[in-house]
Amino acid sequence: MDNIMSGLEKFGLSTTDDMFNDMFEEGKKKTVDENGEKVPEELPTEKDFLLKKGVRCHMCDKTFMTLQVKNGRVKRLDSDDDLRPRYQYIDTLKYSLISCPYCGYTARTATADTMTSVQRKLLQENVCAKFKPAKGPEDLPESYTYDEALERFSLCLFNAVAKKDKISEKAYICLNIAWLLRGKAEELAANAETPKEEVEKVKAEEAKYYSQAYDGLYKAMQTESFPMCGMDEATISILLAEMSFKLGKVENAGRLVSSVLTSPAANQRMKTKALNLKEKIINEMKKKKAAGK
Ligand SMILES: [Zn+2]
Repeated sequence: MDNIMSGLEKFGLSTTDDMFNDMFEEGKKKTVDENGEKVPEELPTEKDFLLKKGVRCHMCDKTFMTLQVKNGRVKRLDSDDDLRPRYQYIDTLKYSLISCPYCGYTARTATADTMTSVQRKLLQENVCAKFKPAKGPEDLPESYTYDEALERFSLCLFNAVAKKDKISEKAYICLNIAWLLRGKAEELAANAETPKEEVEKVKAEEAKYYSQAYDGLYKAMQTESFPMCGMDEATISILLAEMSFKLGKVENAGRLVSSVLTSPAANQRMKTKALNLKEKIINEMKKKKAAGK
């Protein structure tokens, strides 16, 4: 097919139909090479959605580089029922905390700059004074494996305990760890060569942190005020209702769902989630009844 550029040969400029047809397809990968062979499609990996950013430590005031998610580039997928966030090609949870390689201060990014003077003193004594860096501050990988992210989260939990954080914060860190372990189990299971026992072991570990998170959040709901870990009352109620259901505490789940359905403060999205869960609860009750339990 002739195109408008094909007359340029006389100027020594050779053109192809592809050049014309694909002129708006900047950056589009070729699906076949020059020999007509199929080029294997390269899927994006986590590092494609990350950038390195300098941050200042709230404890020791030193600056260091950390990995951050390029928010505009990631595509959000449906969350898990218990609100675990999911994104295409990346588990953003891995990058949701800041950890200082110099003094060990580690916290969720959302809460890293909020601490009382008493907490600062506790951190200084219990973390910073004792911390021995395992890696040099320049050792920043391109992305974190689940094991690396989990290690950073255990440090985060240690910091939260050391500075006597709110119950909700400690519970939410446990929930984040449980979600990361779920991600790790999914990644392992996706590889056909992983022995089944290895996946089961990670799932058992997830269950341990999950029930810790549940107990903590339940307690926090009775003793703390909202918003809690950035979530309003309806969101926490739905989260706990889904967690209750997952843990087989169906009556608790039912009670929490009713509280959301009758709450004037709950938004439509949360009410819809509550209705969906109500249906699952009713089915579960029916199943139990049929089984004569
Ligand atoms: Zn520091």
